[in-house]
Amino acid sequence: MRRYFIAGNWKMNKTVAEALELVEGLKKEVSGVAHRVMVAPPFTALDAVAKSLKGSEIILGAQNMSDQESGAHTGEVSVLMLKDLGVEVVILGHSERRLIYGESDEFINRKVRLAISRGLEVILCVGETLEQREAGKAEAVVEGQLAGSLKDVSEADLKKVTIAYEPVWAIGTGKTATPGDADAIHKAVRKKISGLYSAQAAEDLVIQYGGSVKPDNAKELMGMENIDGALVGGAALKLDSFVPIVKFDA
Ligand code: PEP
Repeated sequence: MRRYFIAGNWKMNKTVAEALELVEGLKKEVSGVAHRVMVAPPFTALDAVAKSLKGSEIILGAQNMSDQESGAHTGEVSVLMLKDLGVEVVILGHSERRLIYGESDEFINRKVRLAISRGLEVILCVGETLEQREAGKAEAVVEGQLAGSLKDVSEADLKKVTIAYEPVWAIGTGKTATPGDADAIHKAVRKKISGLYSAQAAEDLVIQYGGSVKPDNAKELMGMENIDGALVGGAALKLDSFVPIVKFDA
């Protein structure tokens, strides 16, 4: 049985004081919720949020990490630095990293393997652009991203990976994939994982949907057979939108 996993990606938002205000409220509101709940603050707020989350079930995530262990990499943050702060999950391959910063599947794959080897869980993001969707290539693009980003990741290590399907055209745009369209790609993801690994690995895989998830569409999206949670951007920045998403089935 897959457990719902709902994660908030705060992106480049929130000072330390703002991050603490949000997480303090969240702790009260989501205590006792059956789903896995995660927040991914910016690097600068990780330490403060980690301290605030001590004893809470809310999981601490980071939004990115270096593909290198240590050394002369100005401006980068390493996997051990994240672990040191109590981070448990790292988001990798977000479309903003792929498209704005030119991250390739090969580069993301190095990060995925490094994160897992050092004991972090990974949320691996995949998704097509509008141009790719309109050209009928959505499934092929996502399948290629999966194969490339998961290269040399063993079936045992795949248990540490959640996939987030985030159609690029739905991120921060207010446009959401219809539940049916999203579920079709989630199904294709499961099929690809079944081919790369096994039917059991595909069945166990948690697949989040991301792209303008809001309180008013969360229930319908997560009611779909292959949608096991959400990766939430804009709506994760406020309690009054993130809490109803986390409690979509209350
Ligand atoms: C995201 O960037 O992961 C995301 C899904 O953003 P939004 O919810 O704002 O579309």
